[in-house]
Amino acid sequence: MISSIQARQEVLNAAREIAASGMVIGTWGNVSARSRDVEGFVITPSGMDYGSMTAEDMVVVDYDRQVLEGSFKPSSETPLHLAIYKARPDVHAIVHVHSPFATAFAVAGRSIPVILEETAQAIGHEIAVVPYALAGSRKLGEYAVQTLGTAGCAALLAHHGVIGCANTVSQALRICYVTEQTAQIALYAHMLGSVPSLPEEEINRLHQGFKNYGQKK
Ligand SMILES: [Zn+2]
Repeated sequence: MISSIQARQEVLNAAREIAASGMVIGTWGNVSARSRDVEGFVITPSGMDYGSMTAEDMVVVDYDRQVLEGSFKPSSETPLHLAIYKARPDVHAIVHVHSPFATAFAVAGRSIPVILEETAQAIGHEIAVVPYALAGSRKLGEYAVQTLGTAGCAALLAHHGVIGCANTVSQALRICYVTEQTAQIALYAHMLGSVPSLPEEEINRLHQGFKNYGQKK
């Protein structure tokens, strides 16, 4: 696990990236990461401009939702992050965005199918819709945990957006990008005809194979 200094910087960088990439507008969306130095996680502050915030402005919250470090209020979506961290010891970073194509599926109440190799590799499962609950409510956290199950890494929040959960901030960010790309292509494919999912066996093979992909250090 990363240090809290590193976690603050990674959370800040990812927050800037979700704004710069157009996955959120203004101060919406949020990012968090666990760190080894604290019994809790680092999360973006509520309603602050991503361009001007610094690593010191990040807030450290414990698993009872108490602020341990920081002079600002934590993200209004802290209960969602908290619920996922409590339920899923394997999750160390969460990115939440309102990217338009994925959010269109969330509004329509339609899961995003596994139609691309990237979707199978980076996510490995259909991206299901979490039932509607008010943003920032504990109920939304409960529903998200139920939809993600024991191994899910991405979900759509009804009438709201996307959550990506992973071992690292960069992986959680990638899950959000791949979710958005898959939603966009699924929508275009739908205009052209059918949107068939990859076979389950292929999805599993691609997902397993991806774990060993890239350069070995
Ligand atoms: Zn949101």
